[in-house]
Amino acid sequence: MYANSIVELDRAHLIHPVASWRSHEKAGVRLLQSGKGAWVTDALGRQLVDGFSGLWCVNAGYGHESIVEAATRQMRELPYATGYFGLGSEPAARLAAELAERTPGDLNHVYFTLGGSDAVDSAVRFIRYYFGAKGEPQRDQFISLEQGYHGSTTVGAGLTALPVFHNGFGLPFPWQHKIASHYPYRNRATSDAEIIAASVAALKAKVAEIGPDRVAAFFAEPIQGSGGVIVPPHGWMKAMRETCRDLGILFVADEVITGFGRTGPLLASSEDDIVPDLVTVAKGLTSGYAPMGAVFLTEHVYQTIADGAGASLVGHGFTYSAHPVSAAVGLEVLRLYEEGGLLENGRAMGVRLLDGLNGLRDHPLVGDVRGRGMLAAVEMVTDKEAKTPLPAVAEPGRRIFDRAWDNGLIIRAFAHGVLGFAPPLCCTEADIDAIVERTRMVLDLTLADPDIR
Ligand code: PMP
Repeated sequence: MYANSIVELDRAHLIHPVASWRSHEKAGVRLLQSGKGAWVTDALGRQLVDGFSGLWCVNAGYGHESIVEAATRQMRELPYATGYFGLGSEPAARLAAELAERTPGDLNHVYFTLGGSDAVDSAVRFIRYYFGAKGEPQRDQFISLEQGYHGSTTVGAGLTALPVFHNGFGLPFPWQHKIASHYPYRNRATSDAEIIAASVAALKAKVAEIGPDRVAAFFAEPIQGSGGVIVPPHGWMKAMRETCRDLGILFVADEVITGFGRTGPLLASSEDDIVPDLVTVAKGLTSGYAPMGAVFLTEHVYQTIADGAGASLVGHGFTYSAHPVSAAVGLEVLRLYEEGGLLENGRAMGVRLLDGLNGLRDHPLVGDVRGRGMLAAVEMVTDKEAKTPLPAVAEPGRRIFDRAWDNGLIIRAFAHGVLGFAPPLCCTEADIDAIVERTRMVLDLTLADPDIR
């Protein structure tokens, strides 16, 4: 058992995110103590391979001294600088410039936030400013995908399509609309081209239904993360991007998970060969070592707002926008991705991960294996032919998570029987093999669970 005092402090005072508060009171906290590479150690000294990079964020892996040094140096020099009153800091300006140089096309302007949810909220506000400046303020309707996740602030939660984030809040707002996900494994369409055509048709139909001059933007993740790591067919993002252009609406790529090497390149949008009008990022931007997110704006979107509300005052800001310590961390993390070889290693290990997981297809519970780069999923079913999802037993995600934990593995166990993988890009071959082997154990134990059969 962990030190009782800490468990009790946690139980009595700490509210955990996206949790059953009562179940957590009963179960108590699991205390993580330290980390190195792809491994974390809990407060009892138990070592676990982190197949989920914390919460899809510690892309660089744990224990990078150079990141610690960058943060320490900045804290000593100047721990805080506001961006209000025209003030700023060197790391924030440098990070913005380094990112602008690497983003596809002319996504040249960066607004820093504290994380992904407020990056999504900021994007929504910038889009409203954009259409205000264009003299089209009636374009105030937004579309996103079923199974999509765009944060848990109220606006982001409404764009999100997971009911647990809506219930009790009157969400989604009337101006937030959804179209079906591409979800290839559960799509009735039989070819990639059909899936893409169906999404394009659904977007056009939704815009026509809402009113062609009312829609502002379409938000999509290049790979749907929290909805169960759902990978669209190649060409899907490009088709949706082009459809948005044809419809005169903005296209926002929410790359909070897919950014920073998760799928291979720095941004998944480059792999899809598109330039979205706006991109939201967080997580891998600082590799989780400090909180930070960002919104990238194309030259056109930026200049339009700058000539509109931007010519007087854009009323949008956070105390911790462009925090200098987070920016210093971001600069060092960026160096590690490139000069440190993390992107390259992640690409090689992503192939090994997907190969390994595909090797589990012979298991009776494995219905689907999908992924790109270091982002993957195994979808469990009780009948492969009928693709029958696992039965809704009490807290199925928690049971599966517990089994993984007991076998020294951290992965995401989505409630509907999907196992999510997002290992650090620094993984060695042995780390990837450990993740795959331990996943087989989790599958075996799940198969033996009398409630699941
Ligand atoms: N968008 C996407 C695609 C995400 O996956 C997430 C978080 N998982 C968010 C937005 C919200 O980010 P945060 O939790 O940093 O607020």
